[in-house]
Amino acid sequence: MPRKLLKILLVLALLINLIGCRTQVPTDSQNDKKVRIITSFYPVYIMTLNLTQGISGIEVENMAPAAAGCLHDYQLTPQNLIALKQADIIIVNGGGMESFMDKVGQEVPPDQIVTASQGLKLLKDDNGEENPHVWVSVSGAIDETRNINRQLAQLLPQYAGQLQANSDAYVRKLEQLNEQMKNELAGISKRNIVTFHEAFPYFARDFGLNIVAVVQSEPNTEPSARELAVIIDKVKQTGTTALFIEPQYQGVSVNTIARATGAQVYTLDPAVTGEYTPDAYIKIMQNNLQTLKEALH
Ligand SMILES: [Zn+2]
Repeated sequence: MPRKLLKILLVLALLINLIGCRTQVPTDSQNDKKVRIITSFYPVYIMTLNLTQGISGIEVENMAPAAAGCLHDYQLTPQNLIALKQADIIIVNGGGMESFMDKVGQEVPPDQIVTASQGLKLLKDDNGEENPHVWVSVSGAIDETRNINRQLAQLLPQYAGQLQANSDAYVRKLEQLNEQMKNELAGISKRNIVTFHEAFPYFARDFGLNIVAVVQSEPNTEPSARELAVIIDKVKQTGTTALFIEPQYQGVSVNTIARATGAQVYTLDPAVTGEYTPDAYIKIMQNNLQTLKEALH
């Protein structure tokens, strides 16, 4: 009998020890292992940077290099593909911006992908194609920030409280920015603009601007002589005096339009490149505001 008791005691001791180990080991490894989030490109990165501020268990990396600008026709490098596969969560803009995700789709579980534009009503171009540049309007950036927050909180419930607090704080800043831009742009006397690529329909809608023409109707493609003639005609007919290039793109055709019409060339930034700091998007929009006030006063 005492032997049997000893056995039972031994088994009990072993069990207690095991339970003890069990509760300890995963906790330790959880502390060491950070959640790895990769964002497709710059605007989504800045939103995610704001949402995850101060959360030490999360690290955020941006995939596309600054030179890529907008991700139209972006080709994944082998390194990009490895980084995407190694990430715990991938955050994309969606709406057709990351066409390469079709290829990645089968290698990454769909429930690891967060889509910033999910459920938002997207504007369509003349061909019925959806425009993905939601973040270029400040209200769109607010919608996308909230969207990322909601989806991240579902995937990472342990950080839901911190994510929500960060989301609220960033949305407040963006709402202030939106108010300021609306107030200051209410006083401009000109509304017609020509933009370089299809990045500004949401921005123009929010701030009451009228996009008369877009220089590059296809990304990274210079307009033909005929297309240029049409744009020049529109600029003249509408009395448009401001043409906007973008810091990320070089195009000689804008100078041709300027020479033919007497319109001036300014720079409007769609916030697809910039500093890797939380307030970078807000600074870019402040610069855009000053440019517009100067160009359209
Ligand atoms: Zn674009």
